[in-house]
Amino acid sequence: MDFQLNESQKELVALADRLGREEFAAKAARWDENHEYPHENVEVLRKAGLLGMTIPKAFGGPERPLIDVVLVIEQIAKYCGVTARIVVETNMGALGAIMAYGTPEQQKEVARRVLEDGDKPAIGMTEPNAGTDLVALTTTARETDDGYIINGVKHWITGGGISKTNLIFARIIDRDGQDHGIGGVLVDLGTPGFAIGHVESAMGLRGIPEAELIFTDCKVPLTNLVLRDAKEGFKKLMNGYNAQRVGASAVALGLAQGAHELAVDYMNTREATGQKLKDFQGLAWIAAEGDMRLDAARLLIYRAACNAVHLPNNVMLPEMREASIAKAFVGHESFECVSDSLQMFGAAGYSASLPLERMLRDVRMFQIGGGTTQAQLNMIARSIFPRR
Ligand SMILES: Cc1cc2nc3c(=O)[nH]c(=O)nc-3n(C[C@H](O)[C@H](O)[C@H](O)COP(=O)(O)OP(=O)(O)OC[C@H]3O[C@@H](n4cnc5c(N)ncnc54)[C@H](O)[C@@H]3O)c2cc1C
Repeated sequence: MDFQLNESQKELVALADRLGREEFAAKAARWDENHEYPHENVEVLRKAGLLGMTIPKAFGGPERPLIDVVLVIEQIAKYCGVTARIVVETNMGALGAIMAYGTPEQQKEVARRVLEDGDKPAIGMTEPNAGTDLVALTTTARETDDGYIINGVKHWITGGGISKTNLIFARIIDRDGQDHGIGGVLVDLGTPGFAIGHVESAMGLRGIPEAELIFTDCKVPLTNLVLRDAKEGFKKLMNGYNAQRVGASAVALGLAQGAHELAVDYMNTREATGQKLKDFQGLAWIAAEGDMRLDAARLLIYRAACNAVHLPNNVMLPEMREASIAKAFVGHESFECVSDSLQMFGAAGYSASLPLERMLRDVRMFQIGGGTTQAQLNMIARSIFPRR
């Protein structure tokens, strides 16, 4: 196993770190306070070639490996979690599923939107009564002679109302009324019958809306179907989500790394009862534990990304067990690391004048969104005790 970055990866890391420090850090509080989407950061990322890095060459992208995207996400998240999340969603998630399983026309158009317009595809799976138990979803896409009619409600959809491209999970019902299981349908923002409902007032990562999507007899062309495969369709779509889990873990890691670095700097200068914080052994050990957590988290994420297998069109898919182990571990350890880092600042850490409290609110999300820690543990347990 090789832990050395090649020259191209070193350049990528340096670029992402510089953009994070010079362009994104100072404005991170603004997106949080105003619940504002960072359109201007998206344009910086786009111009720097950091959107659509995984898009296959056949559709105009650079087809970079998953580990390269992970490296970028980690750097940017040190400075702005919201902007790092946009890098996840413009490289993985719905985009990966479409690049692997969509039709050539869908792939070409969605790739163009990401690379040229900076569109961040959204993925609509969760419903009010179908979260962890996703197979309970009730949204339907009924086939007619000239399109699919979609009815149902999704909630907590990241980028709802911002994303032009929306990959919606629905039960595919054919013209004879037969249920073909869960498949994916593309619905563009602005399609009649597609409305944005309640937008959540979320605890963290407030720069991207988490919205309700309401479909009322919303008609899309037959060509918008991404997968209709009673046996394998849902499994393929869900597996496609493994990459998103690895990307989300990299955001959590970056947030924790950023908080840890702030704490270490502070410990080098702040004095209490006549000595620097770093000279209190109890505090130095907390920093040492933070270092261990970060290293272990990084190794699990990199392993999952480097071991990813190739789907159609060279889309890279991490293995489920490795993605779940990374997400469950990193979600928890990153939260602990940010919380410990905040503690070093005393009262100042609890103030919105420093970024620590925002980072703590942001990092908490990664134990819930993209599948809860318990859902990941269920998947890991299933790999130990397979079902007959
Ligand atoms: C910030 C954010 C962004 C999100 N973005 C998206 C998005 O873009 N698209 C999308 O489709 N969804 C999105 N979600 C939704 C997210 O995927 C779900 O919230 C998550 O899957 C959990 O579902 P739930 O909220 O319905 O909780 P529930 O499934 O109701 O779970 C409640 C609790 O019970 C536990 N639990 C449930 N079932 C089991 C079980 N079988 N075994 C053990 N414990 C269990 C859970 O771990 C949790 O602690 C987002 C959520 C958040 C917070």
